[in-house]
Amino acid sequence: MIEEESPRAAGLAATVAACLALIKSRFPDDEDRGAAAMLLADGSILTGTAPDAMNASVEVCHEVEPYCGAFRLNQPVVASVCLHRQSSGRTVVLSPCGVCRERLAVYGPGVLVAVADHRDPTIVVWKALKEVLPDYWMTAFPDEVDAGWTT
Ligand SMILES: [Zn+2]
Repeated sequence: MIEEESPRAAGLAATVAACLALIKSRFPDDEDRGAAAMLLADGSILTGTAPDAMNASVEVCHEVEPYCGAFRLNQPVVASVCLHRQSSGRTVVLSPCGVCRERLAVYGPGVLVAVADHRDPTIVVWKALKEVLPDYWMTAFPDEVDAGWTT
């Protein structure tokens, strides 16, 4: 019996593929570059990358562009992935930084985020945001936060 891929798994795979495609199309050379992609509740996928800046302190995460796009479209973020291609050609998974975890928290503890497999950072492991942000500060205000954060 052949198992069919679930729509959810297909959406996650498509999100990773979109992220890889952006890195390849936007940065065709072998330089170190990255991008992010987010799967939205309506099934659409937004991608983004971080513009270069002379002053590194004003640079943004790759996730910012799809994050803002999701808000513009009024679509909750379902999943987020950030990938970084090294000049060697190897592409590693970057888990969302603390600021991006905070950004994604508005969509609840069930948002899926891609983290690197501990033994092989080129492998995507999907985790619920609650797993990578176990002590979210907003749980001090249970009436103001998605109930999933406090259960
Ligand atoms: Zn970030």
